[in-house]
Amino acid sequence: MKTKHLSLIVAATMTLLVASCFTSRQGTKGGKKDQTVMATEDPFANTNEVTINFKKYKDKDWHYPLEGAKVISPYGGKRPNHKGTDLKTKAKDKVRAAFKGVVTFSGEKSGYGNVVYVSHPNGLETRYAHNVKNIAKKGDKVKPGDVLALEGRTGNATTEHVHFETRIGGQAFDSELIFDHKKNTLRHVKLTAKKSNGSVDVSVKK
Ligand SMILES: [Zn+2]
Repeated sequence: MKTKHLSLIVAATMTLLVASCFTSRQGTKGGKKDQTVMATEDPFANTNEVTINFKKYKDKDWHYPLEGAKVISPYGGKRPNHKGTDLKTKAKDKVRAAFKGVVTFSGEKSGYGNVVYVSHPNGLETRYAHNVKNIAKKGDKVKPGDVLALEGRTGNATTEHVHFETRIGGQAFDSELIFDHKKNTLRHVKLTAKKSNGSVDVSVKK
């Protein structure tokens, strides 16, 4: 009986050790690129290629930015300088963080109106614009689904909606690559971003 008790303690200690090793590895630079980049770092600081494996993301690891939304204007499309996806539900609906991260800007900018920027440890930055009100403040740590703002039409907007941007290394890419906006779900794909001559090429594989 005593032996059994002891082995349980040993097992528990081993589990704790393994868990703490794993945690410290998460913050180590130069290891695996996925999930190891600190939120405010340039993901291309030490490499020309960044991968994010969304196949490994569980339900708790992401949240759709505007529940029940429909796309009223896609990335690019008829407007060549449209750097985001316009998502619409109704005024004052909750705008939510897509992934965990840190709020790097919360305020007003021309064109965007009230806008929130979030930098994520996976290397992405997301932006949420035209809000009637920003709720998250600069420096806030957010979890997927945390409320950042309320939907509005501030800035260059003719109707209430969220201008949702996904960026990596400063460059915007079509959020449709990683979100199925028809289903309001994350696409479980592997994203690769390659930087060359100052521009970033983003592609995804199933
Ligand atoms: Zn837009």
